[in-house]
Amino acid sequence: MEERSPTVADVLSVIEAWAPREIAWQKDNVGHLVGRRGVEVRRILVALDVTDEVIAEARHIGAQLLVTHHPLIFQPILSVTDQSRVGRLLLRLTESNIALIVAHTNLDFSKDGVSMALARALGLQELRFLHTEQGKLEKIAVFVPKDHVDTVSEAMARAGAGIIGEYSNCSFRVEGTGTFKPSERAHPFVGSPGTLEHVDEIRLEMILPSWKRIDVIEAMKAVHPYEEVAYDVYPLVNADPNYGAGVIGRLPKPVRAESFLRHIRRQLHVEHLRYVKGKSSTIQSVAVCGGACSDLIKAAIQQNADALVTADISYHTFQEAEGSIFLVDAGHFETEAVVVSPFALRLERELKQQGFSVSVIVSKEMKNPVQWL
Ligand SMILES: [Zn+2]
Repeated sequence: MEERSPTVADVLSVIEAWAPREIAWQKDNVGHLVGRRGVEVRRILVALDVTDEVIAEARHIGAQLLVTHHPLIFQPILSVTDQSRVGRLLLRLTESNIALIVAHTNLDFSKDGVSMALARALGLQELRFLHTEQGKLEKIAVFVPKDHVDTVSEAMARAGAGIIGEYSNCSFRVEGTGTFKPSERAHPFVGSPGTLEHVDEIRLEMILPSWKRIDVIEAMKAVHPYEEVAYDVYPLVNADPNYGAGVIGRLPKPVRAESFLRHIRRQLHVEHLRYVKGKSSTIQSVAVCGGACSDLIKAAIQQNADALVTADISYHTFQEAEGSIFLVDAGHFETEAVVVSPFALRLERELKQQGFSVSVIVSKEMKNPVQWL
């Protein structure tokens, strides 16, 4: 069979299967922002931002799709003309027939997202999210005749139910007796109209992200033998371990604060760091968050991080943190650019696993707009 190119919609669904739009910050603007969904994509360029240089590069390599981290369109746009930066870039994209997909805070909050990439770039180990709250979990309980329980749970798992951390197909089953009396108009799988039935059933429970609810219920009903399926869906207050903000991990061995700073500069290719000293002069437990994450300082201190590496830290935030945590501002661009290569690699791998022929290329034209003297 000849390999086919994915469409923009195919690429979007691969990205959103691992960085679902539902976990993005409410006011964010992620997903497919420019272009036609059905266009075939043979080359994808991945970058942090849409800039004139990046669009020129996409044209030069013949890319049909640009995937960036920062949304080009964020505020409501009243006109698309060459009189504004966003308007000019949108015109250039559309005139060049280049579509745009954005994975922003949905990528921040995912495994293999921005903070995970930053933690790996700094050589941290034993990584876990610093703050988990982003996922919204529900529990579905469905009543299934015994001999259909595996078929039903398998279908629900395929639709996205039963994932807890690195475990899939998680379910709980308990036996009981279901009763029902079909009406004259019913077409029961077991029993007959007007007669009270007692049937051995399993109460099958599975966890699911709320945005998968419709898919899971449809998949469950499609293989459930009953005409009327009895099921309950409950909202949960549990945090979803699959999604979170910031990452905490450990350096392989404790290092002096000064050598930790040099390590950051080297690994993130950053010329200047801003920082305040924390409690200890050695660092081992390190929290990181790509981009502006001053709101995670408390969580990092609570979890005994010696240091927090993030960006866009204000003077007063530094003042508050001094003496409590070694707080480092390593630059917005530098703490986020580390995600681009691993993102491109995973995107290409997953598209190829689905049988698509496509190349995903990392931009060479990304640059920090902020200069230092
Ligand atoms: Zn950012």
